[in-house]
Amino acid sequence: MDPLPLSYINQYAYCPRRFWYMYAQSEMEVNAHVLRGVQNHERAHTPGYESQGDGVRIHRRVYVFSERWQITGFCDLLEEHPDGRFVPVEYKQGKQGRWMNDQAQLCAQALCLEEMTGHSIEQGAIFYFGSRRRVDVIFDENLRAETGALIDAMQRAVAIGEILPHTDQKSRCRGCSLHDICLPEETRVLSP
Ligand code: SF4
Repeated sequence: MDPLPLSYINQYAYCPRRFWYMYAQSEMEVNAHVLRGVQNHERAHTPGYESQGDGVRIHRRVYVFSERWQITGFCDLLEEHPDGRFVPVEYKQGKQGRWMNDQAQLCAQALCLEEMTGHSIEQGAIFYFGSRRRVDVIFDENLRAETGALIDAMQRAVAIGEILPHTDQKSRCRGCSLHDICLPEETRVLSP
């Protein structure tokens, strides 16, 4: 099996069926929310690095991978601190949500970085464009376990090769750009 792009962890955590549409069927609908996210990411995704006055070196668009987890992807930003700490930073559209999908995606980057560098990565951060806030994320045991379980579940789903059920959390469908492809209400009404 090919390594899974770690950005899909976010999609799977939001809704496994959405992950399936995007990863297995290459379906994507660009609504305003998605387009804003793409444009914001383009600004952050110019590769290279720069140094800050406090001695922190900022690397942009850093490729990461993990043999152990069979995932691959990019960090939007990677801070390299003078004390040797690496801190991955992810840019996200909107504000911090109630779900852990963004945190799991960032944690997957940390798992990759730990394997690549041999350093323990304790903390990362997510910058939300909607609120202009930077939120620290601690990679504790719970988040690591949750992230590992998501990766395992994605790989099992791909190996089985069947479309996944609708989420039972209807509020997620309202904001989903794939709603008109997925038709969750219609499917519910027509299901025996
Ligand atoms: S519409 Fe709902 S069930 Fe369908 S992919 Fe989106 S979130 Fe999942």
